[in-house]
Amino acid sequence: MAKVLAITNQKGGVGKTTTTVNLAASLAAAKKRVLLIDLDPQGNATMGSAINKASLAITVYEVLIGTKSVREARIYSEAGKYDILPANRELAGAEIELVDIDNRETRLKVALDVVQDDYDFILIDCPPALNLLTLNGLCAAKSVMIPMQCEYYALEGLSDLVNTIRKVRSNLNVDLEIEGLLRTMYDPRNSLAQQVSDQLLKHFGDKVYRTVIPRNVRLAEAPSFGLPALYHDRDSRGTQAYLALAGELMNNAAVAEPI
Ligand code: ATP
Ligand code: MG
Repeated sequence: MAKVLAITNQKGGVGKTTTTVNLAASLAAAKKRVLLIDLDPQGNATMGSAINKASLAITVYEVLIGTKSVREARIYSEAGKYDILPANRELAGAEIELVDIDNRETRLKVALDVVQDDYDFILIDCPPALNLLTLNGLCAAKSVMIPMQCEYYALEGLSDLVNTIRKVRSNLNVDLEIEGLLRTMYDPRNSLAQQVSDQLLKHFGDKVYRTVIPRNVRLAEAPSFGLPALYHDRDSRGTQAYLALAGELMNNAAVAEPI
């Protein structure tokens, strides 16, 4: 059984896609079998995996609508060394079309059943909204990773997200857990960031990953080279942080699922 993780935060630009792509590459480099699912019509994780989103014949859209299976839609990212269910603008239409379809929140979950044993990790990059696409991610997932910037409004947004997760748990997916909160784009010289980080640790304790992702230009520029940061600059602080996060995640998975 794969560990299925939704990487989500309704706030835009907090590092969801950067986290999904670099975590996928780091886990794949540790010989884990990884499927990345791009659930965002922006298609940033698709581009970050060096897949040309404009030329795709089949995407995650067809999987959600039910005209293609995951096996038919997945492709291999040479750049990241993992499989990906890609996305492009077509996915924006799924929001509207799904409204009239039965079990609209669990379309992705059901579609993933057949590939659960093909992977160790399935990482879902969610769009910056608490919409039907994100709900599909939350229903398909066993746990949620929440990337967040340590800034003033971050904690407020977090309580909306935690409430949504609670609602999903009581109505649609009883097993859903918060895997962890990830501090992204962290600058230790910024005293507000330090204060918010301290508050996070106080309220959420060991639900906050020990690994902190620093603000690092290599992470931001890697997609323009068509590579995850691991293959762009292995020694950069950003790359090293995502390798450490992958290690933390693999340790958590080992604790959660004893052999
Ligand atoms: P959206 O909500 O639009 O999907 P997102 O949450 O997926 O955004 P990203 O696209 O990963 O966020 O990151 C937003 C921007 O910040 C991008 O330009 C990205 O390259 C940059 N970025 C992300 N993480 C870092 C980091 N640790 N250091 C420097 N830049 C970063
Ligand atoms: Mg994104």
